[in-house]
Amino acid sequence: MTAININRFVRKNISELQPYISFRDQNEFANPILMDANESPFGEFNRYPDSTHKKIRNQISQLKGISPKQISVGNGSDELIDLIIKIFCEPKKDSILMMNPSFAMYGFYAAINENSVLKIQLDGNFEIQKEDFLKITTENQPKIFFICSPNNPTGNSIKDIEFYIENFNGIVVVDEAYIEFSNERSAVELIEKFPNLIVSQTFSKAWGMAGARIGIAYSSQEISQLIYTVKAPYNVNSLSLNLVSKSLENVSEFQNNLEQIIAERSWLKEEFKTIKSIEKVFPTDANFFLIQFKNVETVYQKLLENEILTSKRFPQIPNCIRINVGNREENIQLINALKNI
Ligand SMILES: *Cc1c(COP(=O)(O)O)cnc(C)c1O
Repeated sequence: MTAININRFVRKNISELQPYISFRDQNEFANPILMDANESPFGEFNRYPDSTHKKIRNQISQLKGISPKQISVGNGSDELIDLIIKIFCEPKKDSILMMNPSFAMYGFYAAINENSVLKIQLDGNFEIQKEDFLKITTENQPKIFFICSPNNPTGNSIKDIEFYIENFNGIVVVDEAYIEFSNERSAVELIEKFPNLIVSQTFSKAWGMAGARIGIAYSSQEISQLIYTVKAPYNVNSLSLNLVSKSLENVSEFQNNLEQIIAERSWLKEEFKTIKSIEKVFPTDANFFLIQFKNVETVYQKLLENEILTSKRFPQIPNCIRINVGNREENIQLINALKNI
């Protein structure tokens, strides 16, 4: 395909912005006396964090074999989604495209930025129908297409993602919040081929650090530069940066936990076969199940009475509840509660 010049997708006011650059973070000093940022000389957390996230970008670069210049760090992938919409979508003019059902936050941030939200209805297997995609994109020319794969709340991976990137005249964001739980290839390997592609991942799910709020975007250098131009200078706090940096120094804990969650997912899948109120367990590549029940209202209420909190997906997805994998003890309690309904 011909190289896409992403500049033509960028809002004019954004392309004219000068990034705020902290002098301190741009230069190397051996032992500086810091009198430039009105900080306190006292305390353990008295200094502003590194606005360029140098350390963890380098660590992730090592881990993934991608240039640090193509890695952006956000205060959760939520912040990155919000910033990406602001960079490319003109308020009251542009629209975004997303799948239905999918992760609601794309529509939420688009609405805040006054962009309309177009939805492609997924088929019975929660796949995109290519004809629907081609029709909706030619008729409406949305600016950004959000593909969530594995998809939340359906759990399946989206097939043939490259087709959608190739045939979309705008920015494609592939949200891979659950990619670690899947055997599918990550779209990260496509960023060299497609300058209009952004792949987002997070430390909130498989890495077990939802409280730290760290999200990562992989993209062309141009897009990463735009993200660093529009973000708040100190968007990620130093406690979270340190925590994530530590876990990247020793990934064995992450790997052990991931293996356990995947093993528990298999255990639950077998146990679900014994539950009479279950109509269907949808295939999953994530750390959760979308489950269709015969008497969904009763099941949801009974679980709640047992203080087992699940995600109510009905009536949007008929008779369905989304339940994430817990540890063995929690999973046993879930199964026992379901058996008693
Ligand atoms: C949980 C989730 C995220 C993670 O968001 P963070 O802000 O990084 O916690 C992103 N996308 C999807 C689809 C999710 O389900």
